[in-house]
Amino acid sequence: MNLKEKDKKFIWHPFTQMQDWLKEEPLIIEEGKGAWIKDIDGKWYIDGVSSLWVNVHGHRHPTIDKAIKIQLDKIAHSTMLGLSNVPATILAEKLTKIAPKELTKVFYSDSGSEGVEIALKMAFQYWQQIKYPKSEIRNPKQIQNSKLKTKFLTLVNAYHGDTIGAVSVGGIDLFHKMYKPLLFKSIKAPTPYCYRCPFGQEMGRERCEMRCLKEVENIMKKHHKELAAMIVEPLVQAAAGILVYPKGYFSGIRKLCSKYNILMIVDEVAVGFGRTGKMFACEHEGIRPDMMIVAKGLTGGYLPVAATLTTEKIFNAFLGKHEECKTFYHGHTYTGNPLGCAAANASIDLFKKEHTLQKLKPKIGLLARKLKQFRKLEHVGDTRQCGFIAAIELVKDRRTKKDYPMSAKIGIKVIQEARKRGLIIRPLGNIIVVMPPLCISMMDLAKMLDIIYYSIKRITEGEI
Ligand code: PLP
Repeated sequence: MNLKEKDKKFIWHPFTQMQDWLKEEPLIIEEGKGAWIKDIDGKWYIDGVSSLWVNVHGHRHPTIDKAIKIQLDKIAHSTMLGLSNVPATILAEKLTKIAPKELTKVFYSDSGSEGVEIALKMAFQYWQQIKYPKSEIRNPKQIQNSKLKTKFLTLVNAYHGDTIGAVSVGGIDLFHKMYKPLLFKSIKAPTPYCYRCPFGQEMGRERCEMRCLKEVENIMKKHHKELAAMIVEPLVQAAAGILVYPKGYFSGIRKLCSKYNILMIVDEVAVGFGRTGKMFACEHEGIRPDMMIVAKGLTGGYLPVAATLTTEKIFNAFLGKHEECKTFYHGHTYTGNPLGCAAANASIDLFKKEHTLQKLKPKIGLLARKLKQFRKLEHVGDTRQCGFIAAIELVKDRRTKKDYPMSAKIGIKVIQEARKRGLIIRPLGNIIVVMPPLCISMMDLAKMLDIIYYSIKRITEGEI
């Protein structure tokens, strides 16, 4: 049996219709360099999906490779439960230095979903255990009331991962509906999907009155007593289809959370570490969340490390005598893995050393210029960009915004066409996502966008 046969015989792939997979030739990657990856047949492709939105400085970056090798010569893993380790300690300090100001405590895990689970459990437990200092008690019922704060506010179309808690605060029907009987109930606010505005406001982003934000306030007004936290992706709902918020929406959420005494959990999993042009998306609107989850790009795309950052105030609510049982009883086996943390330390240092964010600026500009060309294509309904993420939404009819039916598999066909031309990308339904590694060269970026352009044209208009 060769590798391709073994793959088909033994592997069940994530988010993949295996009936289709079994009919097709599997692509098996064996090597990478910079923004490129090579399959076992020796063909090189641009890694246009950044190995699922994680790769920052490129594959086989000598500095990160070296950091992992040095760590490997010391120890590969040791537990964080009752012990600590060197790279995790160094990383925690680094993270608190680059994160929004009040986030001073770091709780490790291994994936974005786990980081979200942790934030949800922490927020819930916080309200169960908090003791208000006398000076802060405006209303004597506040202490008792805090125990009622057990629910979460989230957005329609939200995606925060695939574990049950993360799915409970998710809102993508295609992925989440099936599991409804297993989920805890969360309260959902309309999504700021400007191209298909849920309030029918078609006046364009600039003149938008943000009815969606007003609706968040209506919900908070009604439910604040039972709301522990609102969880939200900053600036853009990524897996929902790169839905970019109108300017001021995100800071509006911060203000409302403060006004109604609701914790703000910001999920930076997809956009943290430079993806939006700043280290964290929170920085664009000066947001200081109560909790922030980071994963994906944290290790530069090398190893699975995630972290939930929070404030001294939340941390303090978990302090008490052993027998008071205020401990946060949560911890995954590989939490704070030394190899992963060594990679993360090296990756964060590279941002400074290689001027990653400065070098990104012209690439963001090139992306914006090239995206304009896509709008001329007959079946491109909308293009969206947030820093170094972009999306091209394909529609059957541009005038009515009518979608292609799922059976048309239009997104899949486009990425298959792109693959023939040497580019790996992944669609979100009928939306083509542009998410290359931050290190990609201007030349490769231009090449990548040309491939996407011609692939869309070929599939939707039948032309080359
Ligand atoms: N949160 C957001 C915003 C994400 O985009 C993702 C994954 O795409 C997750 C959480 C889940 O992260 P992971 O796949 O590492 O569990």
